[in-house]
Amino acid sequence: MNLAQFPRRGYVKTPTPIEYLPNFSKALNAGIDVYMKRDDMLPGAGGGNKTRKLDFCVADALNKGCDTLITCGAVQSNHCRLTLAWAVHEGMDCHLVLEERVPGSYNPDASGNNFLFQLMGVKSITVVPKGTDMMAAMQGVADKLKGRKPYIIPGGASNALGALGYVGCMEEIMAQMFAMGLNFDHMVVPSGSAGTHGGIIAGMIGNNINIPVTGIGVNRPKPVQENAVLTVANQALELLGVETRVPADKVVAFDDYVGPGYSLPTDAMVEAVSMMAQTEAILLDPVYSGKAMSGLIDLARKGYFAKGSKVLFLHTGGSPALFAYLPTFRK
Ligand SMILES: *Cc1c(COP(=O)(O)O)cnc(C)c1O
Repeated sequence: MNLAQFPRRGYVKTPTPIEYLPNFSKALNAGIDVYMKRDDMLPGAGGGNKTRKLDFCVADALNKGCDTLITCGAVQSNHCRLTLAWAVHEGMDCHLVLEERVPGSYNPDASGNNFLFQLMGVKSITVVPKGTDMMAAMQGVADKLKGRKPYIIPGGASNALGALGYVGCMEEIMAQMFAMGLNFDHMVVPSGSAGTHGGIIAGMIGNNINIPVTGIGVNRPKPVQENAVLTVANQALELLGVETRVPADKVVAFDDYVGPGYSLPTDAMVEAVSMMAQTEAILLDPVYSGKAMSGLIDLARKGYFAKGSKVLFLHTGGSPALFAYLPTFRK
């Protein structure tokens, strides 16, 4: 697929590493070898998956003559942190609309990503209650700006353009597999606003790579999440001018690891984050990669992956959010 037809800013200059996790695989003791795609090491303050998507979205904003980015997310949003970071890098303004998905959870003095919003000089933060029409709320912020040209990026940059970042990631993985002489049997990805999972699926189907992908949802019920992934994957293929569409049965996004709700801790997440830290010294996050890894651990223990499988886990980043969860890990 020809990704070069779309302008990007070049934030992703070199492939992120694929690493074998020998100590973690041994501790898991489920007869599988776990590898990790280190997208937590992507450039952008604090790292993480949104950089691949913003590479395309910010290029579009600049090509349209915009000088201000407006985006939205949860109160500890990594996507908001990275949109702000790249706005600063480009000399643009950035305004954030934060959805209080857990009532009362916004604390202007909180650590983690919230602290970084302040540190990197966010122009404004608007906090809205759960269930608010976020596109309308962002448009409201745009309408009030005087003498600026705003560009609105949807939550998670999970539109077709943003998802191209993960089509690119899939192509990068393929090239690395060939160079390393590694053939993965399965891939596990976090599934949130769906652009990451959707882009990976579009890259898999568009390139005829027959590796099963299991998504681990962090928010929505399984059928709703799978439909969101399918939609953005097909939109990305359409944007790329590829005629193939994704068969619905290629999209799997389990909701068994969400726990009480988005961003709310689970014991399995604490186990996954602690186990990864203590076996490989790799930092996961409480909201996405920690819950996704708790899914991989549970599925492996249940025999979901065939014995001897090589399983690639996509580490999407998010570790700055750990610092907003100290009591969860200290108890
Ligand atoms: C946003 C995010 C995800 C989920 O990616 P989506 O494209 O929104 O599904 C996973 N991990 C981290 C750390 C994130 O910030």
